[in-house]
Amino acid sequence: MIGVPKDADVELDIRLEAVMEGVLVTGTARAPLRGECARCLEPVVSETEVGFQELFFYSADEAAEGDSILDGELLDLESTFRDAVVLTLPLSPVCSEDCTGLCVECGVRLADAEPGHKHEVVDARWAKLQGLIPEHNNDQES
Ligand SMILES: [Zn+2]
Ligand SMILES: [Zn+2]
Repeated sequence: MIGVPKDADVELDIRLEAVMEGVLVTGTARAPLRGECARCLEPVVSETEVGFQELFFYSADEAAEGDSILDGELLDLESTFRDAVVLTLPLSPVCSEDCTGLCVECGVRLADAEPGHKHEVVDARWAKLQGLIPEHNNDQES
């Protein structure tokens, strides 16, 4: 429903600390979000800011399964960032907290419709009868 667009600019603010086993990265990332309102399907544009902390080990010998390891002098923050962002994403993003969604009858977006938008609901039994009544308008001969 919502996510960080491909090729989005992600602002990073990170601090690196050398520790015994590796490099501890602490930071925040800010990224744009694009998605669709779960209620009315309008585009939703927002942004997320996440904090993360990850220890990058100098060597695989000291790291456990799933730990991050320094690649030479490179830190690959992508999966760290992705994991952090995923946790912040709303399951049902909405364009606004009070979004009223779509009309169940005609699908119009209620925020765009006239106030009190509703439909005359014709009782199914009457609808049937209406079709059965013949029209006599043209029966009279002069
Ligand atoms: Zn909406
Ligand atoms: Zn409607």
